[in-house]
Amino acid sequence: MPRRTKPGWQKEIAMERIRKLFEQAENEFKKHPERSNRYVEMARKTAMRYNIQIPGALKKRFCKKCGSYLVPRINCRVRTSAKQQAVTITCLNCGSIRRYPYRKEKRK
Ligand SMILES: [Zn+2]
Repeated sequence: MPRRTKPGWQKEIAMERIRKLFEQAENEFKKHPERSNRYVEMARKTAMRYNIQIPGALKKRFCKKCGSYLVPRINCRVRTSAKQQAVTITCLNCGSIRRYPYRKEKRK
């Protein structure tokens, strides 16, 4: 392993931080939904600064348009469409709709 890959471990730390921020966003949502949005914002900024991608599972947890942390049945609507083989997520704050193709999840 070359030791010069400094950005590598920095990205790992950034990724860890992003995961934690989403965890905090989830924990805070019930009491302080506005804080959750703040955590999302911080996570997105961290990702941008380190030029890393937010993992797919976490990407579905916030609205790209208005930056809200999304919780199904509370501030977003999740619909699955067998015909289109996609999951549609509607943000109830700004009305933006996003579609994700199905991915057959492996069961453990
Ligand atoms: Zn939105």
